[in-house]
This record gives sequence, C-alpha cells and structure tokens, in this order.
Amino acid sequence: MLLIEGRGNDMFELTGKTAIITGASRGIGKAIALKFASLGANIAFMHVGDGEKAAETEAELTAMGVKAKGFECDVSDYEASQKLVDEIIEEFGEVHILVNNAGIVRDNLILSMKVEDFDKVISVNLKGTFNMTKSIYKHFMRKRRGRIINISSIIGLVGNAGQANYASAKAGIIGMTKSVAKELGSRNVTANAIAPGFIKTDMTDSMPEKAREAALSSIPMKRMGTVEDIANTAAFLASDEASYITGEVIRVDGGMAI
Ligand code: NAD
Repeated sequence: MLLIEGRGNDMFELTGKTAIITGASRGIGKAIALKFASLGANIAFMHVGDGEKAAETEAELTAMGVKAKGFECDVSDYEASQKLVDEIIEEFGEVHILVNNAGIVRDNLILSMKVEDFDKVISVNLKGTFNMTKSIYKHFMRKRRGRIINISSIIGLVGNAGQANYASAKAGIIGMTKSVAKELGSRNVTANAIAPGFIKTDMTDSMPEKAREAALSSIPMKRMGTVEDIANTAAFLASDEASYITGEVIRVDGGMAI
C-alpha cells in the first residue's frame, strides 16, 4: 500500500492553493468549496441574492481554518466579474483554480418558452462561464498554471424536452471547455468539465414529483447523486494527480447518460 505523508488519508492536497467558485452559497458549489477547504484551499466564492446562506457558508469554511470570503456578484455581468476577480487576486494573492458552477434553470417546452427565459439561461450558465474564464485568463497565462473546472450537465450531452435553453448552455460549456483547453494547454492550464446527472439540491427539490420519479427510473444505479459525488470529482480535477487531463468531460451520473 502506498503511504502518503501529511494530511492523514486524504489523497489530494490543495494546501496553499486558492480557488474561485461561482454559485457556492449552496448546493453543488458549496459542497465543492467545503471539499476544497478540507484539502487546505482558500476559497473566494460568488452568489446572487443568497446573502444568508452565503454568510453561513463563509463561516463554515472559515471555521475549517482556511481563508474564505463570499461575494455577491452576477457572473452574467462581464465588467462586474472582471472587477471582482481582480479584487480577489489583490486580496488572496495567486488564484490557482476556477470552478464555473453558477447555473439556473427556466424550463418550458420551446412552444411556451419565453425568449427572455432562453436569453437568461444562456447569459448566466454559458456567458457567465465565458466571463469568468476571460476574467482569470491573463492571470493563469502569466503564472503559467491554472485549473478551470466547468460544471456542465448530462442534459448538455443528451438534451431534454423542456430544457432547450439549459441544454444549449450546457452543451456550449463543453465546446468552450475544449476550446480553452486548446488555447491554454501550452501555458500549463487545464480545462475540464463535469457533467452531473440527477443530484439532490434545491434545483432538483423544486422538480414536480412525476418528473423526479421518471428521472430516477432512468438511472442504472437507481439513486440520485449527492453533492459530494460532484465535489470529489472536482477535487480530483483540481489536484496534481489530474495534471495531464484536459479538455475532458466526466459524467458523474450513476450511468444515467450511458
Ligand atoms: P442551486 O440552485 O442549488 O445553486 C445555484 C448557485 O448559483 C447559488 O449559489 C446561486 O446564488 C448561484 N447563482 C445563480 N445565479 C447566479 C449568477 N447570475 N451569478 C452568480 N451566482 C449565481 O444549484 P445546484 O443544483 O447546486 O447546481 C449547481 C450547478 O450544477 C449548476 O450549474 C447546475 O446547472 C449544475 N447541475 C446541477 C444538477 C442537479 O441535479 N442539481 C445536475 C446537473 C448540473
């Protein structure tokens, strides 16, 4: 058995690293923040309109002995995103990891989907990922290292009735991930995507019971995923152990999109 000295039995080590995680006041983003902090990383995170939960998350992270701060910032606003990223670099020093996790849904069949709801989902999920990537791009280039982890969805791989906006955004994120991997590979920056399946969070708690049952029956492993399932994969992609993986999409879905 391989013995690793240092942090107990933890396989991955993020001590001294700083991560920016979008949408980490709750759900999957929060789980990623807690996992990264447990591995020693400092955390700067963003949210929109979720001040109470953001304050709780910030307190939980700080209690783990790392530097942590939550910021209210809309990723669909490029100027605001760039300004905040610059402030975070100023305050935290080097940033090593960017996790683009912020996302929303506005589901409806195309027949009834409002044009504003199409635009809104593209603007937060897809353009938000672009805005944050553009905001950290020069920093990662200069430092000649960096990790970008984009939270896509299996819906971006297989589509879904009632989610044309969301599926387009999540498929777009995969194209963007592969493009960034090609642009920044020579600078030792990796870009990968995680495609979660059906994960228990506020987003899926708000689904109608019938839709939830239908989704569950299509999962070979017959259970919803947990936020920790996604956080563990993100920790791997952020770790030194994943340094030669780029442009990859990892499904974490219990086999749902096989
Ligand atoms: P959630 O609704 O629980 O949390 C969303 C987070 O994003 C919150 O912190 C919120 O404040 C933040 N946010 C929303 N709009 C924002 C904006 N404009 N700018 C900055 N922050 C913003 O969602 P979740 O279920 O934890 O999902 C997280 C990500 O995982 C999303 O990208 C989602 O599409 C993706 N995903 C979720 C599932 C699932 O089953 N829950 C499946 C596949 C993919």
